[in-house]
Amino acid sequence: MYLEDIFITYMQSCIADDNKIRFKADFTNDIAKIFPYLNGKLKDAIYNKKIPAITIRKEFRIITLYNSHMAVQKALDETDAHEIIDYIKDLINKTYNEKEEIEPLYEMRSKPTAIEIYNYLPKINCKKCGEATCLAFATKLLIGQQDIKKCEPLYSDKYKDNLNVIEKHLEMMGFK
Ligand code: SF4
Repeated sequence: MYLEDIFITYMQSCIADDNKIRFKADFTNDIAKIFPYLNGKLKDAIYNKKIPAITIRKEFRIITLYNSHMAVQKALDETDAHEIIDYIKDLINKTYNEKEEIEPLYEMRSKPTAIEIYNYLPKINCKKCGEATCLAFATKLLIGQQDIKKCEPLYSDKYKDNLNVIEKHLEMMGFK
């Protein structure tokens, strides 16, 4: 088996939503060499070879795989966390077994859209960032013409998890 096991190392409730959790888990071995194959196989993956890391979605859950660990946002509960771990372990091992039939992709295939980023912003159009709307701010963030720190409301406890997701996307795009 390519990836033997995954162990949860950290788990905490989402601040904005008590019904969801975020967690981190360690891999028993380095899995970075499988990332180009996952990127070739999963059409909506976001791959950054410099980190290296790859972000994938499982419905509303956001899962970022690094070479030796994974970070998950918006899991439902501890049971869901274990199901996600089984899913990732299975995905990685299947991809490894099928890698002769998969064309690896070494570049980032897709970036989040402005609407996807907008959905994690406060959406109150307060203009504190200097933009007329949150959507305009999201659009400029994606092209590196705005700084996430300019969105002051996003740094309140209420939006802490949303900030984590946006920072993850910016990290994947090489803006952090
Ligand atoms: S500061 Fe944040 S909440 Fe206010 S308009 Fe800009 S992006 Fe929207």
